[in-house]
Amino acid sequence: MSVLVVGSTALDSIKTPRAEAPRLLGGSASHAALAASFFAPTRLVGVVGEDFPRPYLRLYREHGIDLEGLQRAPGRTFHWAGEYEPDMNRRRTLKTELGVFETFQPALPPRYRDTPYVLLANIAPALQHHVLDQVRRPRFVVADTMDLWLNTALPELLRLLKRVDALVLNDSEARQLAGVDNLLSAARRIHRLGPAYVIIKKGEHGSMLSGPDGLFLCPAYPLERVVDPTGAGDSFAGGLVGYLARARGPVSRHLRNAMLHGSVVASFCCEDFGLRRTARLNPEEVRRRVEELRRLIRA
Ligand code: AMP
Repeated sequence: MSVLVVGSTALDSIKTPRAEAPRLLGGSASHAALAASFFAPTRLVGVVGEDFPRPYLRLYREHGIDLEGLQRAPGRTFHWAGEYEPDMNRRRTLKTELGVFETFQPALPPRYRDTPYVLLANIAPALQHHVLDQVRRPRFVVADTMDLWLNTALPELLRLLKRVDALVLNDSEARQLAGVDNLLSAARRIHRLGPAYVIIKKGEHGSMLSGPDGLFLCPAYPLERVVDPTGAGDSFAGGLVGYLARARGPVSRHLRNAMLHGSVVASFCCEDFGLRRTARLNPEEVRRRVEELRRLIRA
């Protein structure tokens, strides 16, 4: 079954303590769609400007990503610049240039409207709503978000939470949204805002699922060298939804495995700048690393 991904399609300029790389292919939807494409047919909804490099379009296509929902508009592609501190868990945004996203109105191609699995990757909640308005009775809807929207678009985000099955967010965002420090209490409060499933990401410390069947703790795959963690969260969400689309059957039965697969794709993402490592990844490498991760947590 297919996955629909909406989110940012961006050029990212990234600086780490060791190196920097300008205008890489990035954006929440790019990372999520590539991750999902390892598991299921993936449809991308987004917008790029006239400056969007052709090789990046080719990369989406090489992964079989359906681009009918990717608009090309006059103007410049969304550009984000960020810098990591020596502790790579800490990052500063240097620039957010919206470009063509400023006036973007996602219009779903008619054949996208029945997509069963929908990932609302990080983008303005108003755009996430706009996509949800156009899909017909999806089986499972996952939303991702970021602190920016908690600070600038909280009413729209709260309205969105009533419309999604799962919310994926990081630990500091969960604390901010729930107004409590303890993550279990935060998850419980977020359930009351709408989503049956709450997945809290804790960077290199893995993630926590809270849902109708209780809790699940998913490890991150341990890496000795992180080159660039940008997009790891989006890759996690994309891998998770892609896995669910491939697994079919009740989501509750597959969600734990979906998190392990998301975690593994995210680990590959961190091994090089932007999408470079993910672009070279093959399903066999994913499978092997999932097995390794399972061995690491066997008691
Ligand atoms: P992550 O590392 O998972 O937080 O995601 C990083 C990605 O989010 C980068 O590829 C950016 O292009 C994208 N991004 C950064 N800021 C925004 C924003 N305000 N809206 C949408 N996407 C963003």
